Amino acid sequence: MSDAVRQIKEKLPLLDILQEYLDFTQAGDSWKARCPFHNEKTASFHVTPAENVFYCFGCHRGGDLFSFIQEHENMTFKEALVMLAEKAGVILDGQIKKPSTNSEKLLALMRHAADFYHRQLLLDSEVKQYLVERGLTEATVRLFRLGYASTTWDSLTTFLKASSYTEQDMLDVGLIIARKDAKGGYDRFRNRIMFPLNDPQGRVVGFSGRIFDARVENKEKAGGKYINSPESEFYDKSSILYGYDCAKKSISYEKSCIIVEGQMDLVMAHQANTKHCVALSGTALSERQLTLLARSATKLIFALDADSAGSQAVTRSVLATLEKDLDVAIVQLPVGADPADVIRTSPETWHKLLEKPLSYITWKCRDMRNSDARTLRSILIRDVFPALLSMKSPIILERALQEASTHSGYTFETLSKEFRTWQSNNKDALESFEPISDSLSSKALTLDDTSSDTSRIGTSSKESRLITLSNLIHLAKQRTESNENPDDVVVYAEEILSRERADWRERLQEEPRALIETHMMYGNAPLKHIFQSIREVTFIIKRDILTQQRNNLHIELRRSADMPERRNELLTSIQNIDSQLISLNDLYHRE
Ligand SMILES: [Zn+2]
Repeated sequence: MSDAVRQIKEKLPLLDILQEYLDFTQAGDSWKARCPFHNEKTASFHVTPAENVFYCFGCHRGGDLFSFIQEHENMTFKEALVMLAEKAGVILDGQIKKPSTNSEKLLALMRHAADFYHRQLLLDSEVKQYLVERGLTEATVRLFRLGYASTTWDSLTTFLKASSYTEQDMLDVGLIIARKDAKGGYDRFRNRIMFPLNDPQGRVVGFSGRIFDARVENKEKAGGKYINSPESEFYDKSSILYGYDCAKKSISYEKSCIIVEGQMDLVMAHQANTKHCVALSGTALSERQLTLLARSATKLIFALDADSAGSQAVTRSVLATLEKDLDVAIVQLPVGADPADVIRTSPETWHKLLEKPLSYITWKCRDMRNSDARTLRSILIRDVFPALLSMKSPIILERALQEASTHSGYTFETLSKEFRTWQSNNKDALESFEPISDSLSSKALTLDDTSSDTSRIGTSSKESRLITLSNLIHLAKQRTESNENPDDVVVYAEEILSRERADWRERLQEEPRALIETHMMYGNAPLKHIFQSIREVTFIIKRDILTQQRNNLHIELRRSADMPERRNELLTSIQNIDSQLISLNDLYHRE
């Protein structure tokens, strides 16, 4: 283990870091939580603080702080190292800290661009005034590093060139647009309020720019209300959720996430202290976004303005959410208002609305009250049935059918029958929603159910017995740290183990499952029991080693029929092993 890795692990105990993401309860000398890597109702994700390892008995993921961060934040080892070093205050040697690859250089460029835009905004009183009128505080502006891109064609380009970035670098991340008939390019974002788009680790990977109306001279040439960075090596529209980096802790804590539509809605929501909130930015929730949210939330609360709430993108997002077995709730906003408007006028109203969101079915059925049979049926077929189809749990489905029955006035039986008929007749409808069910086959759900009990004593191979033995010795030593006279069984076992697996101490953490299982089985057991198990495993290992040696000698003996001297040697060795086996038996049966 490198020095930096060891230092980081010492400074950042695994459980402390994981508590930022998960809700733990204590179980013996371990802690357990619902696994962030697969969907589950009961906790099978275990952490043993004494060992700084985790293991999930559901999806068999396990490891140390670094493997957790790599998996959870989707980082390479190097990225995790840099992030954790920063968190721990451990200085890495220059090689890693300095941007050594082109990707790191481009990420640094994006950060510099965000800083530049942010400074421009802080210097511009008119833009600042505009944001204040929209309800933003300066603290929020700073927190989200909002910026301003001026009306000129080259202010960013000039600034970045002065920081020794090339125009090719800027083209690569889409900050400039190539000129058609000349070399180089010009700033993509001009006269725009800039929202840096961060990845889940908070690194700037793109921008969204909202036009600053007050300085628009020519409406036709000004471009769209919003323009975004083009997709690049770092910026993949379908995986970035605006605000997620700031929201992730609160989402884990609240176990739910509010979905808003625009960047302004998001920064206002955070300002109103509803921090478990992310923004969609005009597209439907993608599978990757949903998987990310499903790791820590069990419920998504959609707070969208009335216009967009009926859109295809929202419907698809809701259905995909239901398919993931997450609860869906809808916050009904006043007509014509978006979350930013509501919060600016009255944060209290916003909080009240969030207190009693509607279920999706109730929300879809809200217009049923005074409808004629024809309209009723069309609402059922267009809005309600597709949602029912996405519900995998029979309990949830039944509850939803009951709700729909209450709203529509049809009996539960009639409605169920109607739904089943629609389901079997309407193959087209089924097929059009098929791509969403594909989204379930996410990486996080690839379960490996071949869980063999290889670490249990007596049922396993030599290799896994050695693992068990190293864990038991390790545990016994932890427990007897102050004990100056270690049990002779431990001394003997350690001798055998070290001969077979000289590096067993370094390899302990490579088997998090065995380590955690040992803690679960022996964490609270009397030391006597641990010694007894060590005695048993050692006996079996030693017996197997000797038996194997004895078998080999016998094979050689058969082959050396015409070599009397060799035969005598071999016979002596066999006798020697036999006496070792006898004394081993004595040792084992001695109390
Ligand atoms: Zn798991």
